[in-house]
Amino acid sequence: MIQTDIIIIGAGPVGLFTVFEAGLLKLKCHLIDSLPLPGGQCSEIYPKKPIYDIPGFPSILAGELIDNLMEQAAPFKPGFTLGEAAMTIDKTADDKFIVTTIKGTKHEAPIVIIAGGLGVFEPRKPPIDSLEKYEDKGVEYIIKDPEFYRGKRVVIAGGGDSALDWSIFLAEKNIAKEVVLVHRSSSFRGHLDSVQKVIDMAESGKIILVTEAEVTGINGGDKLESVIITHQKDGEIIRETDHLIPLFGLKPSLGPIADWGLEIDKNAIKVNTLDYSTNIPGIYAIGDVNTYENKLKLILCGFHEGTLAVQSAFARIHPDKKNILKYTTVNGVQGF
Ligand SMILES: Cc1cc2nc3c(=O)[nH]c(=O)nc-3n(C[C@H](O)[C@H](O)[C@H](O)COP(=O)(O)OP(=O)(O)OC[C@H]3O[C@@H](n4cnc5c(N)ncnc54)[C@H](O)[C@@H]3O)c2cc1C
Repeated sequence: MIQTDIIIIGAGPVGLFTVFEAGLLKLKCHLIDSLPLPGGQCSEIYPKKPIYDIPGFPSILAGELIDNLMEQAAPFKPGFTLGEAAMTIDKTADDKFIVTTIKGTKHEAPIVIIAGGLGVFEPRKPPIDSLEKYEDKGVEYIIKDPEFYRGKRVVIAGGGDSALDWSIFLAEKNIAKEVVLVHRSSSFRGHLDSVQKVIDMAESGKIILVTEAEVTGINGGDKLESVIITHQKDGEIIRETDHLIPLFGLKPSLGPIADWGLEIDKNAIKVNTLDYSTNIPGIYAIGDVNTYENKLKLILCGFHEGTLAVQSAFARIHPDKKNILKYTTVNGVQGF
């Protein structure tokens, strides 16, 4: 049994910063994440994209932000259970919680903070026979490192911002040898600037744009070798490629947390904005996973929510102690 002061479910940016804020109050945290690496959406979806609205950083790559948050949390020695989804929560006789993961790892603490973001997220997969057979053998649903595609032929499927942005990036920086963008409509859902850029790059031959068409089949041996593209008017063509990247977004699903007796509204946990507590005393929800009036799913809002949640957690754990706000400039960071 792993014992700690606060169990944080979700090691995304918000969960990680909460370790720091809890540490300043001398509360120890243990994070659980179903992904094998910390960082949540920043690491999993867009590690190489710059973020422009983190206070004090005019621009920072999402992956760099996570590295910095890990460094900032390090003095407080957080524990990690990675690659395991939190499945169940139970209450003990002495008012603590036991959170058990899919692999049976048990964690005990008086406070649980859910920083589960979009939940246990799954990519939306197109209905193509044998698609799963070629996963990680030429079929990927997320671009983690664009360098992986250097010198390769890539077919991207989708019509939203991810499909447009990655097509532009891989072609403009001359990373991929060939970029084919396949979209079922002739209009796109992404930003107008990106749409225009893709059209311009298609005209100049930098991107091969195939609209009103869908990838309907894949072929290969041990690895992906070609895709079948079915055009609404012209029928099927076979295009040789090294990679197929369907970018149809992620299916947000709260997963097991939805069955924990928490008040849920549209796939998010309802909280009291006084301290981001849920309807179950001792359980808080912060970051993208929560909902309240005027909620903004932004990293900086999650940082604020985590900061207030740990103040409230301190009062629950130490009802007899008065917590006085101390500036880090005055007190420094006293690690564990
Ligand atoms: C392409 C893109 C660009 C973006 N750009 C910006 C931007 O410029 N500025 C900005 O502020 N925001 C941006 N965002 C939004 C930002 O990434 C999110 O607001 C932020 O990641 C939320 O952080 P979080 O820690 O709450 O959740 P997440 O980052 O979603 O992390 C939650 C973690 O919880 C884990 N988890 C969930 N359920 C369980 C469970 N049951 N057991 C174990 N683990 C679980 C997940 O695996 C995940 O790792 C962007 C998002 C995307 C997709």
